[in-house]
Amino acid sequence: MIREPLIFELSAKGKRAYAMPALDVPEAKGALDGLAVRDGIEGFPEASEVEIVRHFTRLSQQNYCVDEGFYPLGSCTMKYNPKINEKIAALPGFAGVHPYAPADTVQGCLEVLKRTEDYLCEITGFEAFTLQPSAGAQGELTGIMLIRAALAKRGNPRKVVLIPDSAHGTNPSSAHLSGYAVQEIKSNPDGGIDLEELARCMNEDVAALMVTNPNTLGVFESNIRRAAEIVHAKGGFLYMDGANMNALTGIARPGDMGADVLHVNLHKTFSTPHGGGGPGSGPVGVVKEMVPFLPTPYVVRTANGYGLDDDRPDSIGRVRGFYGNFLVVVKALTYILALGPEGVREIAEIAVLNANYIRKSLEGIYNLPYDAPSLHEVVFDDKIQKDAYGVTNLDIAKRLIDYGFHPPTMSFPLIVHGALMIEPTETESKRDLDGFIETMKTIAEEAKADAGLLKAAPHHSFVRRLDETAAARNPVLKWEKPKSE
Ligand SMILES: *Cc1c(COP(=O)(O)O)cnc(C)c1O
Repeated sequence: MIREPLIFELSAKGKRAYAMPALDVPEAKGALDGLAVRDGIEGFPEASEVEIVRHFTRLSQQNYCVDEGFYPLGSCTMKYNPKINEKIAALPGFAGVHPYAPADTVQGCLEVLKRTEDYLCEITGFEAFTLQPSAGAQGELTGIMLIRAALAKRGNPRKVVLIPDSAHGTNPSSAHLSGYAVQEIKSNPDGGIDLEELARCMNEDVAALMVTNPNTLGVFESNIRRAAEIVHAKGGFLYMDGANMNALTGIARPGDMGADVLHVNLHKTFSTPHGGGGPGSGPVGVVKEMVPFLPTPYVVRTANGYGLDDDRPDSIGRVRGFYGNFLVVVKALTYILALGPEGVREIAEIAVLNANYIRKSLEGIYNLPYDAPSLHEVVFDDKIQKDAYGVTNLDIAKRLIDYGFHPPTMSFPLIVHGALMIEPTETESKRDLDGFIETMKTIAEEAKADAGLLKAAPHHSFVRRLDETAAARNPVLKWEKPKSE
């Protein structure tokens, strides 16, 4: 395996990617000198165009992506994103529109926003959506701010948000950032909300219960309606984390389950390539009582088209510049329209089928800590391999890299030690799933025959096993010329 040098190591003094023609007019000295014109940056890499192109192309080829192969990272919905989405989002009328363009000149873009909102309302069962938040976590923050605003309007914003221990890690952070104390409630042995515990914890200080559904065990909260009743009876709100709506689309609607606020991740369920930091979009849906509090500007239908409504006195205000990540919305709308109602339903049917196919195929070979049927993902752990051969989930994940697969999620859910959380998504074919299942079986055999092989994995990747603790605690982010050279 050849190590790709850093761009700094490729650098040679005086190289350029592009050379300007010689100046044939007197050089203007003036206002910008010393202000916006740099003399040069010490140590700045200098390389030719072809060196730069090859360097970054080689680096990109060392990176694993959804277009290359199966990416079963649990709770991330790393599904294949149809290329038609990119084609539509790249249309000049979308990609080139200026964010400050007056509403009457961008009617088509406003229609995209409004129609996406309509479809999300239809799919999830809510009254209205804001499309501003640019990620799931920001959607959660917005949703909790909306709950605070609605409770304040009723007279008391309250103090506590209840969160089951199976929740996604961003849930407690969002509640905390919105000024609420977080109180954890334990799951029952099936991995669902413990209703007795919920009833015990629910009182007039509690603003909301925040539920990830399906939860991070991939289990559907079948008590969600009862939970909603318990929370509503004491005047609280039910927040549902719908980041992984691909288990439910076209089949069940959170609005019908008693949820008051929901965020969905367009970059997961509605297909935008994601990971590595974006771009994302985390629209938030609300019931009628909360519509006045939605962020401004809010896209509205007017007598002759669409407009931006800023005159909403109860609004929590803006949560994001302009209209959010507009092109992610364009991709989501393209995806929804390309699939149609039957296709949207099929997303959920196949996502659930694929997860259960993996579950059944690997049951008994890997341990299932919770024995409830899976929705979009299935959580195994390393108990069988660890107890018998000392092989951990990390060893298994690293060995998967040798076979050309992205590893599953390991550090979540927090309530499963040694987790292997696998989300196949609906875009994988049976043939690809079978390939993954065979590989997982091979690795289980290898654990038995040669644990050392797994302990030293990966063997065939660009980088071998790293000291992840040292990398996190003492990251080396700056290149310095080695002293000896
Ligand atoms: C991914 C995810 C989030 C956070 O979404 P981001 O866009 O990464 O901020 C929240 N909850 C669940 C259940 C998720 O899977």
